[in-house]
Amino acid sequence: MNIVLLGPPGAGKGTQAKRIEEKFGLVQLSTGDMLRAAVASGSEIGLKAKAIMEAGQLVPDEVVIALIADRIGRPDAKRGFILDGFPRTTKQAEALDAMLAEKGIKLDHVIEMKVDDALLVDRIAGRYTCAKCGAGYHERNQKPKTEGVCDVCGSTEFKRRADDNAETVSKRLAAYHAQTAPILPYYRARGALKSVDGMAPIDSVTSALSAILAGKPAAAGASKAPKAPKAKRKPKSPAKARPKAKARSKAKGSRAKVPAKKAKRVTKKAVRRVKRPAASVRGKVPRKAAKALGKRRPAARRK
Ligand code: AMP
Repeated sequence: MNIVLLGPPGAGKGTQAKRIEEKFGLVQLSTGDMLRAAVASGSEIGLKAKAIMEAGQLVPDEVVIALIADRIGRPDAKRGFILDGFPRTTKQAEALDAMLAEKGIKLDHVIEMKVDDALLVDRIAGRYTCAKCGAGYHERNQKPKTEGVCDVCGSTEFKRRADDNAETVSKRLAAYHAQTAPILPYYRARGALKSVDGMAPIDSVTSALSAILAGKPAAAGASKAPKAPKAKRKPKSPAKARPKAKARSKAKGSRAKVPAKKAKRVTKKAVRRVKRPAASVRGKVPRKAAKALGKRRPAARRK
């Protein structure tokens, strides 16, 4: 299975890719991670990319396309991959199509993680990772259980990305809207785009993604779209409307289910109707006579 995860910086693509990677036995291919590794190693690509990344801009298409082409060709990617942070431009999306077609690989899912910009700045500016195992944390929303100690590996060293600061974040967001968001229609037009609510709790997002990957209907609670309140629901068209209970029971005849108590009442009423003469033949019952006889006068004639 091969997947593309799309979404603005800070949407949680990396976090979710790691979870799905384990769950579905795929490999996460993050161009951001590859570029950071290149910067750390001081390679030629790293030297080119460093200043661009720190400025919150996109590294040239040729550079990242070459990185991904090389990575997808490695043996571990054959069991399936999650592209995280790639493609980021229409040119990259087209190049991806071409390289996959050439290799006879198909994309199974393109999933967009939707998050409001206002939330992203806070999310990104507060995040940090364990320097040893890479586990992700947030200053307010996701602290380690013991302060200063990684929950996963026990390391006491943490790091922050150079580009995770409020100033660069706004530039990265601007780059996302100008260069990456336009590829959404590219995939939507091919009927390949699905989306999840990236603002839902982390576990709910994982469930929603897993449901898509497993081909199930969306997991409950993961979608942001609220249900229309009952009272405000559109009235059904006459053709679709369910017949009323009375009509339904008539149509079903003797098979109609009537609660035992009600059935008794209905039967009694029916019996009374048979015993009593019809109103037309009962005639007038004078008030006094009716009182004396303890009879009820016909409803229509009561005052
Ligand atoms: P990320 O870790 O995905 O947020 O990426 C961090 C930075 O790496 C981005 O702000 C870009 O400067 C660069 N980068 C990552 N992926 C790409 C890509 N597909 N195209 C261009 N630049 C990228």
